[in-house]
Amino acid sequence: MDRKLKILLLASEMSPLAKSGGLADVTAALAIHLKRRGHDVRVVLPFYRCTHERVHQVNVELTSMCVRMAEGEEWCAVLHACLDGEVPVYLIEHDHFFDRDGLYHDDNMQDYGDNPRRFGFFARAALQLCMDLGFAPDIVHANDWQTALVSAYLKVWFWNQGELGRAASVLTLHNLAYQGVYPTDHYGYLGLGLDNFQPSIFEDHGLINFLKGGIHFADVVNTVSPTYARECLEPGGGFGLAPYLTDKGDRFRGILNGADYQVWTPEHDPLISAHFKAGDLVGKALCKREMQRAFLLEEDPNICVVALIGRLVEQKGFQLVSEAIHAILRDMEVQFVILGTGDQHLSHHFGTLPARYPGRVGSFIGFNDELAHRIEAGADFLIMPSLFEPCGLNQIYSLRYGTLPIVRATGGLDDTVDQYDERTGEGTGFKFWQPTPRAVYDTVGWAVSTWYDRPAHIDRMRSRAMRKDFSWERSILDYEELYDQALRVKSDYDRHSRG
Ligand code: ADP
Repeated sequence: MDRKLKILLLASEMSPLAKSGGLADVTAALAIHLKRRGHDVRVVLPFYRCTHERVHQVNVELTSMCVRMAEGEEWCAVLHACLDGEVPVYLIEHDHFFDRDGLYHDDNMQDYGDNPRRFGFFARAALQLCMDLGFAPDIVHANDWQTALVSAYLKVWFWNQGELGRAASVLTLHNLAYQGVYPTDHYGYLGLGLDNFQPSIFEDHGLINFLKGGIHFADVVNTVSPTYARECLEPGGGFGLAPYLTDKGDRFRGILNGADYQVWTPEHDPLISAHFKAGDLVGKALCKREMQRAFLLEEDPNICVVALIGRLVEQKGFQLVSEAIHAILRDMEVQFVILGTGDQHLSHHFGTLPARYPGRVGSFIGFNDELAHRIEAGADFLIMPSLFEPCGLNQIYSLRYGTLPIVRATGGLDDTVDQYDERTGEGTGFKFWQPTPRAVYDTVGWAVSTWYDRPAHIDRMRSRAMRKDFSWERSILDYEELYDQALRVKSDYDRHSRG
């Protein structure tokens, strides 16, 4: 695309200012790469408590901004920070909504009851900010349910606001399992009109569904891998949203996430103890020893290590590992390193394994970015047995670190990992299909036996994996094409609706 666009990118997370999962990394990478393509991209984020601690330099953009919600005015301030020294980031400061310990839920994983108001306000505030700054974006790009309402606000409230009303909206679905479904008593506050509270738009079995309404109003919608996009359209797919995504026709597609190789690369990752690259893995051996030491494992380069990193939630399928791990440890010469946080039962289970298997299992229950890097660098395999996976970033990172993925062939995991062929040694990882502990056991066994019995294959797979290119430079061109389509769709819509 030659045309340079003005893009307003809205998200509820962005690394390093606020992160609970992959969305944060994707938002940052998308912003930086769009900027590098010459677009005028500006990000809007809530100013969370954790953001206070992580932001280095911040200026006041607006000391006060009035956001009119249907039940009255909300007042906030807007701060201005910078991402990577080049992308403007506007932080919406509304302490009552955002000055809390968690992004979406409290310490007991209970959703904040006022989430629909927090994020409804946020979406509406982002457009108010455009008005107050005189910034008229060509594209308003929302991500997930938290910001999905912005496409509705554009068409319901801002359609007659000059250039801003002509902005096209794009909605990226990072995970259909989270739709923002809430009781109707919040609907009045949002001010989206009773006309829009119907089953094809916001109504969902008597509740409000933010994502469903967002999909309806967005000019184009995408998700984060081609295979996940296909899975979402299958009958019963997309957690009930398949019919609405089907209705979008060619205005719904999958674009594979890229990885930010500035941050995730073993050649110059500042968080790991030694650097390495394809063809020269001396540093990886040092990282493995350092990781074994840090996790109190037996320091032995000749024992293979399987890592598990991620949110301990049902989607990730880690309960399958928790069921299979005893038989794996009984039958195989293998160590485990576990890093995760989430579900209490799984946290307890994984947290107590080191005491049951001293020297063979190490775990850290919590969120720790540095450890994630050290594990990616030091482990031999990374297991991701997800029940579904829109894209998945960890397996893409692990390919770059020569840590071969063991994955269930679903969504983006299927798109990014090539199955090992033991006749030829081709492939970059080990895939299975059945979501069962047995399949986990068998596939870990397959990987481990390959590690011991066919080391030449492992070497070749590593070198192939490390050379795989999932950089944003490629995916960003697909996003430009998506923006182009959004502009065409929106201008047709404006022509028809305005006569
Ligand atoms: P999701 O977005 O569903 O959580 P992804 O694989 O797309 O899954 O992205 C997960 C990201 O979050 C990766 O950058 C991963 O390293 C990071 N991550 C997840 N859990 C933890 C944790 N406990 N500590 C540190 N980083 C974590």
